[in-house]
Amino acid sequence: MTGGARDHDRSRPMDTARPPARNVILLVGDGMGQAHRMAGQLLTVGRAGRLAMDRLPHAGLMGTMPADPDHFVTDSAAAATALATGVKTDNGAIAIDPEGRSVPTILELAKRAGKATGLVTTCQITDATPAAFAAHVPHRSDQSEVARQYLEETGVDVILGGGAAYWYPAGAETPFPADPADPLQASRGTAGNLVARARALGYAVATSAAELHAAAVPRPRLTIHDDRTPTRLLGLFANQELFLQRTEGEGAAYDPPVSLAEMTGTAIALLARNPDGFFLMVEESAIDRMAHRNNAPLTLKGVLELDRAVQVALGHAAADPETLVVVTADHECGGLAIAGSDDPPYPYEPGGGLLETTMAGEDGPFPIVGEEDGFVMGWATTGHTAASVPLTAAGPGAERLAGVYENTFLFAVMAEALGLAVPAAGQWGANGSHAR
Ligand SMILES: [Zn+2]
Repeated sequence: MTGGARDHDRSRPMDTARPPARNVILLVGDGMGQAHRMAGQLLTVGRAGRLAMDRLPHAGLMGTMPADPDHFVTDSAAAATALATGVKTDNGAIAIDPEGRSVPTILELAKRAGKATGLVTTCQITDATPAAFAAHVPHRSDQSEVARQYLEETGVDVILGGGAAYWYPAGAETPFPADPADPLQASRGTAGNLVARARALGYAVATSAAELHAAAVPRPRLTIHDDRTPTRLLGLFANQELFLQRTEGEGAAYDPPVSLAEMTGTAIALLARNPDGFFLMVEESAIDRMAHRNNAPLTLKGVLELDRAVQVALGHAAADPETLVVVTADHECGGLAIAGSDDPPYPYEPGGGLLETTMAGEDGPFPIVGEEDGFVMGWATTGHTAASVPLTAAGPGAERLAGVYENTFLFAVMAEALGLAVPAAGQWGANGSHAR
């Protein structure tokens, strides 16, 4: 007993030098403000309940405004760049600072430290939020170049989402039927056949739920030399988003071929095979896209899909406590307001009763678990707002995220938790590709 305790003590100096976290799982609800989270709560667990994402022990409030002198309100590219790199930039830029220099991302730094890396989303996997973690392009619209950089520059291990149209050259068939009424569904790649390129680089490729599940199952050993399941996986499950963003009532739908929780679980299962740990970014994108359409039911569905992915992440963290889990947003979308469906006007103040006084669109009423009256959702805009967004966190390093700060601070906390050295500005080559 005593000897064992002394051995343990002798190892303490090394332990204190070790970074507190081995893994980071960052879950981003695109466009998800406090009201979006509250609406999801009322619908599923009621006034006194809490979503999984709101049961994490540490909470903060994060400012989202870009460096862009022309814009007060951020887009997803500048916001994701701030989260991924700790540098505020202009709207539209992907991990490029306002001076046009590539800035290293938390995913790239984790990769250089020997960790496995992954990106998961319900929109195009090359859309702004995932792109800012593993690619560098002056404008977010260059999605085929983003895909190429994932494979050839950054080497992201697990890539799961939509947007197959950008991975196949224009005119080529993708694995998914293309609606002729929607020109965006047709292949439109500008960097050759990147799915073939991925296969050549050793990625397994999945285009259905069955193939996704098969990829997570360790292969039986065939020979003594064939003892490794490929941990690199490219999963593309739709030509564009994993949902259909149309005007409400005109074909908008959120019935994904694979759920965000399933993709998150598979990604974690593959990445966790790396003994040095992993960095994983998971994005739910319909919250933003449906809020742009003021489509409350499908915005809510997005919040709840994200919450299921949070539960998957927390399940892994319970088994591997060296895992920092963070749930936040890149910005707010919709200027969302919540009120009771039957609230009367206030007796002593003007206004009150959101249904009577809302200046723009409203949605509902929706039921509140455990209550007779429902709630309504009022929209101030079909765009983003400058509102700060909530952040909740659990695990090693999470306590640093209590308080009020700018979105660049999250990068610093994640890098510190993983013990990653951050190069000075300008010491990172074009495309972030030097000294790999
Ligand atoms: Zn948006």
